[in-house]
Amino acid sequence: MIDQRDFVLSPEIAHSPEKLAEFLTAEMGAAFLESTKYRIEKRSIDARSRQIKVNLRIGFYEKDYDFSLSAQLPSLPKSAKKVLIIGSGPAGLFAAIDFVKKGIKPIVIERGKDVRERRRDLAAINRFNLVDPDSNYCFGEGGAGTYSDGKLYTRSTKRGDIKGVLETFVAHGANSDILFEAHPHIGTNKLPGIIASMRDAVIAAGGEVHFNHRVIDFIIENKSIKGVICQNEAEFQADRLLLATGHSARDIFQLLQDKGVAIEAKPFAIGVRIEHQQSFIDQAQYKVKKRPEYLPPASFSLVTQSNFEGIQRGVFSFCMCPGGFIVPSATSPKQVVVNGMSPSRRDSKYANSGIVVSIVEQDLARYKEFGALAGMQMQEEIEQKAGTLVGGSQKAISQYTLDFIQGKASKSAHPTSYVPGLEPGEMREFLPDYISAPLAQGFQDFNKKIPGFSSNLGQIIGLESRTSSPVKIPRDKESLEHPQINGLYPCGEGGGYAGGIMSAALDGIRCAEAIANSF
Ligand code: FAD
Repeated sequence: MIDQRDFVLSPEIAHSPEKLAEFLTAEMGAAFLESTKYRIEKRSIDARSRQIKVNLRIGFYEKDYDFSLSAQLPSLPKSAKKVLIIGSGPAGLFAAIDFVKKGIKPIVIERGKDVRERRRDLAAINRFNLVDPDSNYCFGEGGAGTYSDGKLYTRSTKRGDIKGVLETFVAHGANSDILFEAHPHIGTNKLPGIIASMRDAVIAAGGEVHFNHRVIDFIIENKSIKGVICQNEAEFQADRLLLATGHSARDIFQLLQDKGVAIEAKPFAIGVRIEHQQSFIDQAQYKVKKRPEYLPPASFSLVTQSNFEGIQRGVFSFCMCPGGFIVPSATSPKQVVVNGMSPSRRDSKYANSGIVVSIVEQDLARYKEFGALAGMQMQEEIEQKAGTLVGGSQKAISQYTLDFIQGKASKSAHPTSYVPGLEPGEMREFLPDYISAPLAQGFQDFNKKIPGFSSNLGQIIGLESRTSSPVKIPRDKESLEHPQINGLYPCGEGGGYAGGIMSAALDGIRCAEAIANSF
């Protein structure tokens, strides 16, 4: 790069390539512009005042600079060392790509189906209330991130090659805007193709990917990993195993506990999802009657503290999806779990977001007989209760937000993006008071921040329970290996080391580096 400059521009200039070129010609001089190439390095919108501004960082490069990114990976030699990767979510997939770059052969083992087949199972959940425990919104190729909003920002302060992850997505088909947007997102319509392209690159280089293989046992000899056994009796052997099975692989947590492999209970959060008209959120956030086209559908981020029976619990918004859909994301029949996703254009008329309450140690203590699986047991029980209330279907309980605050069951529901349908009622029928009371307090506070937010204009839909892993699988800070089992590397969200697509991808790369150094 020859130079970079920051500009504060009107949206009309910032979002029009022609007007931006005119502006830069005037600002930098025609001769400079003719002898260089430029691109946007960073873009953020400042909507705090009525005069909306766009902050742009422009990078200037030599005229012959090549911006193109290659998806091709080097071919693996026959003698390459091998590593088992359990789970093809962002942690497993980015680790696989990194292993190939390092000349190590990844063998990816995934319980679910490839993205194309998986789509049919999602349709069956939405249309016929049928949940396949191996192929659903959490399980299958690409993991929980495939049919999601594809937000790619992370609150994690851990450093890593964020730009490299974004460039990999772009090389496999994501829009290059994600390289400079302050809040990049891909969209559920684009993610499956991108994930399939990443998988094809791994296979073309000599890696292996096995779908429909659920790991049911670890082969451990003398406290060292030797391989895994799958439900179909397939066996894979290697002495390095990256375990990236996500926050919903309850059978894996149970297996680790049954085998005496150390795991720990971990705090997480439970609550509901709130849905509004997107136009309401736009008006509230941009303070305009109608959102101009150059502005993206508005989002929000809310956080407060509650006090119930003398215990402080955080209440916060989680995974906000502007212009999105609420989706059924249970991993077994008879549970009700919701989450949110949106297409790349974020053009549904609804805005949704999780509003969740932190689960604290005192809450986990109610389930202490389950040891490290206390949080998992709590999640499961509440999910089953919600499922029983809707007769084992995938319908979700809904309640107008003000009705919830006032403790009144709702008798009707607003139109919704949630395809399986709503059953109006009362959240307290399945939410324990240590979650419902802080939630009600939180909504009252949020209504002060966004007037009307917690009125009956919006409705809450339950249950939002898969916010992060209820279990931590310990690992050494330096080697990233499990402290008891040689060759076992807990990774990503399931191990408690990530919370979202970007942080899971970064953790996958981190673990791949640690494993490569261990040979
Ligand atoms: P996962 O993605 O959970 O992947 C784990 C994989 O392991 C799965 O493919 C699973 O099938 C496989 N597996 C499990 N058990 C076994 C077994 N026994 N044998 C073999 N394979 C197994 N995050 C964001 O950052 N932005 C978003 O916009 C966003 N939206 C979301 C929307 C939805 C609907 C959902 C459900 C999640 C969303 N998330 C989002 C969260 C994000 O998807 C996760 O944080 C991320 O995918 C975690 O990555 P991971 O690789 O650690 O685990």
